[in-house]
Amino acid sequence: MRDIIIAGNWKMNKTFQEAEDFLVDIFEYLHNKELEKTTSIICPPFPYLEMATDLAAESNLSIGAQNVSEHESGAYTGEISAAMLHSMDVDHCIVGHSERRKYFGETDETINKKIKMLQNYRIIPIVCIGESLQQREAGEAEEVIETQLLATLQDVQISNNLAIAYEPIWAIGTGETATPQQAQKIHSFIRKWIQENYNKEIANSVPILYGGSVKPENISDLLAEEDIDGGLIGGASLDSNKFKKMIDIAEK
Ligand code: PEP
Repeated sequence: MRDIIIAGNWKMNKTFQEAEDFLVDIFEYLHNKELEKTTSIICPPFPYLEMATDLAAESNLSIGAQNVSEHESGAYTGEISAAMLHSMDVDHCIVGHSERRKYFGETDETINKKIKMLQNYRIIPIVCIGESLQQREAGEAEEVIETQLLATLQDVQISNNLAIAYEPIWAIGTGETATPQQAQKIHSFIRKWIQENYNKEIANSVPILYGGSVKPENISDLLAEEDIDGGLIGGASLDSNKFKKMIDIAEK
């Protein structure tokens, strides 16, 4: 059985104090709580990572980054390297989020380099893929997903060191969620693709998260689907009560 992953993507939200208050609240909640099947991850903005990993050292919460440079080090003003994340004990990193593809020109090729860079530093990439509304309406969703998988995972080894997040672009931050059946169809397609391109064991072990307006009200139905192993959650992860509720639901 695969663990369930509840991952919060804070994007560009919260002041330092708000971030610290949230994390302290979550640590108190997780303290003495034996999570049997749920891994919870918070991905705060870069400047809060060190504070977050220091606090998280005493807890069973994992801390992830929201992006990483594809370069090792050097003259790349404003960039953050995988070595830097590693040196702050960051253990996960979102890559290829649709907002980075849309606003910062990220391509499948740069995402592929970032994945390899992260794996070199034993940081687990959470690789985001997903189709636009136009592509879905044109019946191209699976084709788009396959193209993204082929390019982002080119020459990437998988052995408990990678997670995939299926995030239909039309469902991110819109309040519109894919139905559990729509999501399951794509998740199962992704798992089959991994089985065909890697092997069955890897396909059965790789976590495939769903992202797109996940909240306490809809997470239970999504997690009930066979191939949905958790959520990558934006808006609803900003509220610690909602985040705790989603962990509770995942643990049931
Ligand atoms: C996300 O940021 O990856 C996301 C899915 O956002 P939201 O939950 O707000 O749709």
